[in-house]
Amino acid sequence: MRLSADQRSWGLRFIFGLASLLILSPVGATGRDVAIGVFAYQGERAAISDWSPVIAYLNDAVPGHRFRLDNYDVEGLRKAIAEQRVDLVITNPGYYVTMETEFGLSRIATLVSPYAVTATQAIGSAVIVRASRQDLHELSDLAGKRVAAVAPEAFGGYLAAARELLRLGIDPESDIKETVFVGLPMTKIIDAVKHGRVDAGIVRACLLEQMARQGQLKLEDFRVLSPRQEGGLACALSTPLYPDWPIAVTRQTDPALAKAVARALLAMPEGEGKMSWSVPADYQPVHDLYRDLRIGPYAYLREITPEGLVRRFWPWLLGALALLMAWIIHTVRVEHLVHRRTAELRDSLHARELAEARMRESQEQMEHLSRLSVLGELSGNLAHEINQPLATIGNYARSVLLRQSGGNLTPAALTEACTEIVNESERAGGIVQRIRHFVRKRAALREPTDLVAIAEEARRLILGMLDRPPGITIDNKLTGACQALADGPQIQQVLLNLIKNALDASRDLPAERRGIQIIIETAEPRLLVHVIDRGIGLNAAQQTHLFEPFFTTKPDGLGLGLPICKTIIEAHGGRLWAAPNADGPGMRFSFSLPCHDQSA
Ligand code: ADP
Repeated sequence: MRLSADQRSWGLRFIFGLASLLILSPVGATGRDVAIGVFAYQGERAAISDWSPVIAYLNDAVPGHRFRLDNYDVEGLRKAIAEQRVDLVITNPGYYVTMETEFGLSRIATLVSPYAVTATQAIGSAVIVRASRQDLHELSDLAGKRVAAVAPEAFGGYLAAARELLRLGIDPESDIKETVFVGLPMTKIIDAVKHGRVDAGIVRACLLEQMARQGQLKLEDFRVLSPRQEGGLACALSTPLYPDWPIAVTRQTDPALAKAVARALLAMPEGEGKMSWSVPADYQPVHDLYRDLRIGPYAYLREITPEGLVRRFWPWLLGALALLMAWIIHTVRVEHLVHRRTAELRDSLHARELAEARMRESQEQMEHLSRLSVLGELSGNLAHEINQPLATIGNYARSVLLRQSGGNLTPAALTEACTEIVNESERAGGIVQRIRHFVRKRAALREPTDLVAIAEEARRLILGMLDRPPGITIDNKLTGACQALADGPQIQQVLLNLIKNALDASRDLPAERRGIQIIIETAEPRLLVHVIDRGIGLNAAQQTHLFEPFFTTKPDGLGLGLPICKTIIEAHGGRLWAAPNADGPGMRFSFSLPCHDQSA
C-alpha cells in the first residue's frame, strides 16, 4: 500500500512520484525489477530524499537489476512482505525485529547514519523538559506527569524511553499521568514542552542539538533528564543507544541478489554527511527492549497472567474443567455403587449366615427327633429290658426278706443276693445311661473317630434294648493309618438306623436269616462301613425311592431315617448307598467317609 501523504496535496504527490520514477529507474536500464520496501515513517517525500542515493548507488553497483523504492507505512509494509511484493526491506530496528519473527526477514547490512558514530549504537531517545522545571531531573521524576511522544510504536520517539522508565520501576502505561502521542514531525513535541502543554517530551537523540545548530531553538531553554553520553555521540541522551536501521532480505529473495546487494552496500563509499552501510549489527538489544515492554513478537507475555491465560486458553480450560468434573462425577458414582454393592453383599452374606444357622439348627432338631424316633420304636423292648433287671432285683430283695423272717438268712446267701442286685442295677443303669447319651442334644463336631469303637457301642445299645437280640458281628478290616474325621454320635446314629432297618427287615424270619454283619474296611482315600442283612430285601422299584423323604414300607414308619443318614454322611464329605446283598438274600447298606490326613 502506498502512503497517503497527509497534509500534502495530490499535486505534490504526483510530482514526487514522477521524480522518484525518474531518479530511481534510469532510462534505458534493462534487467530484473527489484522492489525495496521502505518504512516511510516521515512520509513519502522524506523517504525518497533519504533513500534515493542508496537506490541510485545500487542501480549502478549491481548491474542487470532495476532497483525501485516502494514507500509504506507500518501495515502496508507488513502486507507487502506477506504478499511477497518486496525483495528487500529497509526499516527501523523495532519493525525489523517484529518482522524478523513474523516473516523470517534476515538483515544483510546495517546503516551507518551520518549523525551516528557506529552502526550498533545509533538510535536513542532524549527526554526533554523546560530548563526552568526544577522538579524534573531524573526519568523517575516523570511518575504522574504528562509526557509527549511521537507514536506508541516509534522507536527513538517513544519505545527506547519507555523501556528506561520501566527499568526504573515506572510503568509507562499506568504510572505516567498521560502520554500524548503527537505524531511527526518531532518539532511538535518540542513545541508542546516549550509551551507547557506537557511536562516532558520524548524525542530522538541529537534532535535538540540539530535544531539548535539550525537556530530553531536555544539549547539552554531545555534540559535532558538523566543525561548520559554514549557511543561517542556528541548529544545528550536519556537512554542507551540501539543499532541503526537494517536492510533485510525476505525468505523469497534470490540469494545471489542478496549477496550482490550486501557486497555493493558494504562497498558503498563513505563521505562527510553521507550514509553508508556496515556488516549486520546485533539486534538482540532491540529484542530485549520488546521483551521488556512485552510488545511486538513478545506481546504474548502480557497474556501470561492468570486473567490472560484464562482469556487465551478458555476453551482448553473449559474442556479440562469438564473432564475433571466428569472424572469426579464418575469417581463419586463408582464409589457410591461400590458402597451400595458392598452393603448388598454384606446383607446377603448376613442373610446366608442366618439361613445356614437356621438350617443347622433344624438339622440338629431333625437328628434329635430321629434319635427319639429310633428310641420310640425300640421302647417296647426297652421297657422289657429294664423290667427284667428290676424284676430280678425285686426277687432277690424279697428272698432276702423271706429268709430273714424265717431266720435262715445266711451271710453267703445275703452276699449272693446283694451281688446280683448290684449287677442287675448296674445293667439297668447302663441301659438308661446309653439311651440318655444317645438322645442328648448337642452341636456337631469333627474329630478323629474310631469307627470300630462306634460300631461296638451301637451294637451294645441295640443288644441292651432287645429281648431276643440277633447275632451282630463286627469285622474290622481296617489297614493303614487312614482315620475318619467325624462327629462320633452322628455316625453312631447312622449305624443305629441301618441296624434297626436290618432288624426290621429280618424280624419275623428264621434265626439263620436274622444275623447282621458290620464290615469296616479301608479303601484309600476313604473308609467304608457296610451293614449287611439277610432280610426280606427290596425290589428294584423300591430301591430307586429308598433315600426319598417319607418313603416307607412300614405301617408305622416315617420314611425319614435314611434321608437323615444320607444328609449326615454327605455333610461329612462321604456317600451313602444301598445294594442287594451279594452273598444271598437281604440288603447291603454302605457308607464312605474320607480319610483324614494325620500328618497335616
Ligand atoms: P422307616 O424305617 O421309617 O420306614 P427309613 O427311611 O429308615 O424309614 O426306611 C425307609 C424304607 O426303606 C423302609 O420303610 C424300608 O421299606 C426300606 N428299608 C430300609 N432298610 C432296609 C433293609 N435293610 N431291608 C429292606 N428294606 C429296607
